[in-house]
Amino acid sequence: MSSKLLSAEVSQSPTWSDNLMVVQQDRHDRKERWRIFGRLRKRETNVLEERNKVEFHRDNAQSSLDMAYRDWAFYADDPHGALGGNVKQWCFWWSEETQLLFDEAWGPDADAQADELADSYAFVWPWMIPNFIQSRAPDTQARIEHILKNRELVARTNQTNPLTVLYVSTLWGAFHAVRKRRSWKTPQWRNCSSCGEKFFGGEPPIWTHRQFGPARYCEKCCLQVRRGNTAVRSSETAIGAVRELASALEMIPAQNYAFQTLPVSLPYKRCDRIVRALCAMPPPTISKSLLGVSDWFGVLQAAELVDKGWRPSRGTWCRAIDGHLCRSLLEKSIDDWFSNNGVVHVNEPYWPKHPTLNPSGRKRADWRLQSGAYVECAGMMKSEMYYWKMHEKVTLAHALEIRLYVVEPSDLLNLETLFSAELQSGPSERATKARSSLLTKKPSTRRTTWS
Ligand SMILES: [Zn+2]
Repeated sequence: MSSKLLSAEVSQSPTWSDNLMVVQQDRHDRKERWRIFGRLRKRETNVLEERNKVEFHRDNAQSSLDMAYRDWAFYADDPHGALGGNVKQWCFWWSEETQLLFDEAWGPDADAQADELADSYAFVWPWMIPNFIQSRAPDTQARIEHILKNRELVARTNQTNPLTVLYVSTLWGAFHAVRKRRSWKTPQWRNCSSCGEKFFGGEPPIWTHRQFGPARYCEKCCLQVRRGNTAVRSSETAIGAVRELASALEMIPAQNYAFQTLPVSLPYKRCDRIVRALCAMPPPTISKSLLGVSDWFGVLQAAELVDKGWRPSRGTWCRAIDGHLCRSLLEKSIDDWFSNNGVVHVNEPYWPKHPTLNPSGRKRADWRLQSGAYVECAGMMKSEMYYWKMHEKVTLAHALEIRLYVVEPSDLLNLETLFSAELQSGPSERATKARSSLLTKKPSTRRTTWS
C-alpha cells in the first residue's frame, strides 16, 4: 500500500477505530511497516542534527558519547519537554486548545497511573505513559481517541500512522496535564552501578530505562550489553562469562539474553551483578566460533549448563517454581507471583477466535486466570513495536469482551494492586487449594488444564 493511499484513507476514515483498522491490516505487510519505522528514524536523526547547533543544555548535560548532547528527561518546570524541546517539534501541531481538550479527557484513573510512574521512573515517566493509559485507563484512552477523531487535527500532524499520533498525543498531553499539579525528581549526575563512571541521569535513551529500569547504568554499559564484549579471545573466558551470567540470572540464559528486561522488583544488588555479567558476555556469534559449535545449545553444553538430552522448545529456557517454562525472567517473576499467591493460571492459552482480529484462532496470550481474564507480559524493548503489539491485544480483548491485564516491568513492585480482583476470594484459602492441586499434578511444559 502506498503512503499516499494510506494517508488518504486515514484522513477520510469516518472514525478513529476505522483508522486503526487500516493500520492493522497494513501491518501485515512487513515491508510497509519497516518503511514507516525507517521514516521515523530518519526524522529523529534530522532532529538530532538540529540540536547539534545548540551549545548548552540544562545542567550542562553533555553526552559522554561523541554525538549530539541528549537529555531525555522531562522536567516539571520546563514546558519544552525532553530533548531540548524536540518532542514539541514532533508535536508542532499541538495547540493550547488541544491541550485544553486533553485536560478534559484526562481522568483520575490516568492521573493515578501517571503518579505511579512518576514516582518510580521520575523524569522519564512521560515516555512510559502511553502504554499504561492504553491498558490501565481505558476510559481516558477512549476520550483521547475521541479528540483525535478530529480530521483537521490529524491532518495537521502530517503523520500517516494514526498510532504514532495517538502515542505522541498521549505522551505530550499527559506531560502537560500532570506537570500542572505536581513535580517529580530531576536527573542527577551519578556513578554507573556497573562500571562506576560518572554519567548524567537524563542521558541514557529511553530503551535503557525500559530494559534496565530507572537510571542506574550509563549508556555505554547499556550499549555494551546489546553489543556484547567483542574483546573476548579465549574459549575459557567465553565459558566463564556464560557461567557467571547463568549464575547471576539464576537461570539458563536464552540466546537473546542481551534484550531481556530486568524486572524492577529485583534487588539493586542483583540487577548490578546481572548487568556486569551481561557486559562481560561475548556476542553469541563469537562464543560459538570460539567454542567451535554451531548453535547456542552447543555453547550451553560447553559451559556444562545443560546436558545432552535437554533441549527446550521454542527457546524457552527457564522454569517457574510451578514447573511452567518461561521465556524471560520477567515472565518467571510473574508466574512465580501467581503461584505464591494462589492465583490459578494456565500458560500460553489461545485467544478465542475473532472474525477479523484473530481469524485463525492461533494467537496466544501469556496466561489465562481462573476468572477468565487474560494476562500479557509486556517486556519488549522497542517502544514503537511494543505499542503496536499491545494495541492489537488490547483491541482483541476489547472486541471479545475479555478482561486483559498487561503487566509492565514496573508493575512487578505492585502486582497485588493490579491483580486485586483476582485475589478477592481470599488469598490464603486459594493458595492452599492451588498448592495442593499443583502437588497432585505433574507440571506441564506448555499448557495446563483446570483440575
Ligand atoms: Zn557504566
